[in-house]
Amino acid sequence: MLACHLHGTLKYYTAPHFDGVRHAFSTRQGGVSLPPFDTLNLGRAGEDPRANILQNFERLCGAIKVDMRRLVFARQVHGDTVRRVTAADAGEGLYRPATADCDALVTNDPGVCLTVFSADCVPILLYDPEKQAVGAVHAGWRGTALGIVRKTVETLGDRYGCRTAHLRAAVGPCIGPCCFETRADVAKALAGVLGASVAPYIRYDGGDRFHIDLREINIFWLTQAGVPRAQIELSEACTHCRVEDFFSYRRDGARHGSMAAFIQLNPPLEGSPR
Ligand SMILES: [Zn+2]
Repeated sequence: MLACHLHGTLKYYTAPHFDGVRHAFSTRQGGVSLPPFDTLNLGRAGEDPRANILQNFERLCGAIKVDMRRLVFARQVHGDTVRRVTAADAGEGLYRPATADCDALVTNDPGVCLTVFSADCVPILLYDPEKQAVGAVHAGWRGTALGIVRKTVETLGDRYGCRTAHLRAAVGPCIGPCCFETRADVAKALAGVLGASVAPYIRYDGGDRFHIDLREINIFWLTQAGVPRAQIELSEACTHCRVEDFFSYRRDGARHGSMAAFIQLNPPLEGSPR
């Protein structure tokens, strides 16, 4: 389970087993944006005035003690590219355009705060307390079918020497199987890649209708990659059901707000080796 935090009207979630690293999954509560972006919209500049979005970031980042200038955004395209970033990339997305498409970010640099956006898709944060490396993943059904979370775990291993036995994962609020109804093409794409093992997470409802549990399929990918199930915490909230707490692309349509998930390593203690 994720822990819920309230700072005045601001509401966000954290993972208790991510103690020692700054992170959060935002909700829609506690911001200044007006309908249909009410209130803590962190995306969609151009429709929601930028001043509102900046103020929303300021509130959330202030609460989790992240310097807004350190944020780097994923320029998400529903692919499976994992991008490695450093402090040199800080500011990309909020203060200057992001330079590369990707749906996951990784770093071992405490000078940058990884940021992924979602409004139904699955946001996943990864943390290795041994190697001090982190990852942030955006997985819609396409990214889920492509196994982007497994690729991110592999990248953390290749780039920073992270061992999966040490990795911790937090799966944030996303559309639940209650509301994620698809046609056969989506179900087939997922089952085609993942085989019979994900059958419990794809429910056939007759006709051309399926209900899919994207959260559990991503947890399946994580455990397949070697992350111990005991080190995976999740939110059971459905973004589509919980109107008061979350934006939902499916429910709200094209003019919807966005939540974000953040993670940033703490700076090393004075004099300690890295
Ligand atoms: Zn639902």
